Amino acid sequence: MTECQMLIDGAWTAAASGRTFLSRNPTTGEDWAILPDADAADVDRAVRAADAAFHAAAWHRTTATARGKLLRRLGDLVAANAAELAELETRDNGKLIRETRGQLAYLPEFFYYAAGLADKLEGSTLPIDKPDMLVFTVPAPVGVVAAIIPWNSPLYLTAIKLAPALAAGNTLVVKPSEHASASILRFAALVKEAGFPDGVVNVVTGLGGGAGAALTSHPLVRRVAFTGGPQTARHVIRATAENFAKLSLELGGKSANIVFDDADLEGAVNGAVAGIYAASGQSCVAGSRLLVQAGIYDRFVAALTARIARIRIGDPLDTASDMGPMATAQQLEIVETMMARAVEQGAVVLAGGRRPEGRDGWFYEPTLIACDDATLDIVQNEVFGPVAALLRFDDEAEALELANGTSYALAAGIWTKDIARGHRLARDVHAGIVWVNTYRAISAMAPIGGYGVSGYGREGGIQSVLDYTELKTVWINLSEDPMGDPFMMR
Ligand code: NAD
Repeated sequence: MTECQMLIDGAWTAAASGRTFLSRNPTTGEDWAILPDADAADVDRAVRAADAAFHAAAWHRTTATARGKLLRRLGDLVAANAAELAELETRDNGKLIRETRGQLAYLPEFFYYAAGLADKLEGSTLPIDKPDMLVFTVPAPVGVVAAIIPWNSPLYLTAIKLAPALAAGNTLVVKPSEHASASILRFAALVKEAGFPDGVVNVVTGLGGGAGAALTSHPLVRRVAFTGGPQTARHVIRATAENFAKLSLELGGKSANIVFDDADLEGAVNGAVAGIYAASGQSCVAGSRLLVQAGIYDRFVAALTARIARIRIGDPLDTASDMGPMATAQQLEIVETMMARAVEQGAVVLAGGRRPEGRDGWFYEPTLIACDDATLDIVQNEVFGPVAALLRFDDEAEALELANGTSYALAAGIWTKDIARGHRLARDVHAGIVWVNTYRAISAMAPIGGYGVSGYGREGGIQSVLDYTELKTVWINLSEDPMGDPFMMR
């Protein structure tokens, strides 16, 4: 059993109450790590440490260029420790080692990109229409940022928040998911090693309703960056509303992967697999609705089911495996319950639809389920598992109507050789991210996020750093005018 401590004000610490909780390995179902169960008192200590660090000269007076250098050093340390971080994450959340290694190989880019932006956040001098006034704007950091992280990609979802927040000069308290905290604690040690002053980055581990709720409702937290489910987000919205804290929400999706008759068949089949079976469907951008045009439908379904039959379910630490387990026993139960309901409502299982035989752990087979009716629960609601709901359409108008027929708007995939059609769909589909003839591509430079039930705010790209700032407007009176009539607006 691995024993972990959390990081508050530069010191490794247990929960003040001494309480702990266990993290289980989804591949075996066995407990493997023991973690501090932070409560409101621990969270308060972490937030106060972050607030003090924000105001202390060691951070507040650090130049933006120096912050960039620290971030670059952190990126180098992540690169140097990538193998260990990837393995920790795979053990904790059951994600394929192939995928966690791939994510870790790219992760330093988020730090390098934010590092480059740190000293390029410029305000402007305004050509003001008042005589003898010099007016300029300055992007200023907001203060303490709370980052709330889910279990599916802990390090990636931490990096995409932490790097821009630090580049802008903020301090943070990170709360990982209770199901996958270990890799973020190891990462916290690298933050320390990189040389960030104590208190600039704090990590508290604990349960959502305890540490999570205490953190998002803490009055000293000025900005919350949340990734997780819509139900939890509603609590977070209420908590931040009380304190007027700024908020970004990266929630789930029910993303449409749309295959037209003229699509490259092999590419579209690979795109469908990448969309829903990669990460066992536990991806916010999962292409969980497969919309396929009538003319290619039979060939596509035959090719996809043949491809599904070749997917190797297995130990996520084995590089030969294509699909690992669900990250939690509860997630497996959700998948099974939603599948049973879909079948009861008349959907037809074309592949999978059950746990694989002879395996411990929380595995579920890659599943394809044909749905005639777009109002079925399985078509409307996020499963967060390897289940693709298949729908047939006749023409572009119907494809668009189906694609836009949910309350989510996170991502969409379009498979066609017709460039004009690709652009039309990209323009008209309701989604924050649109991929044409590709899927699940990410970059530090490209914003990610959605609207509707998928949340608001964007992570990644230049704007993401500005989102961790407040624009300050400064007026300087250049004249000797002693203000004249004080009862008049100037
Ligand atoms: P979750 O909402 O259950 O938990 C997310 C985080 O919120 C965890 O750290 C949890 O401890 C914390 N939390 C729980 N209750 C809280 C409360 N009352 N106050 C504050 N924090 C609280 O989500 P999950 O099950 O960990 O992750 C799955 C969900 O996340 C899915 O819906 C998925 O689509 C979404 N997700 C979205 C993205 C994206 O970028 N859009 C990425 C990954 C996951």
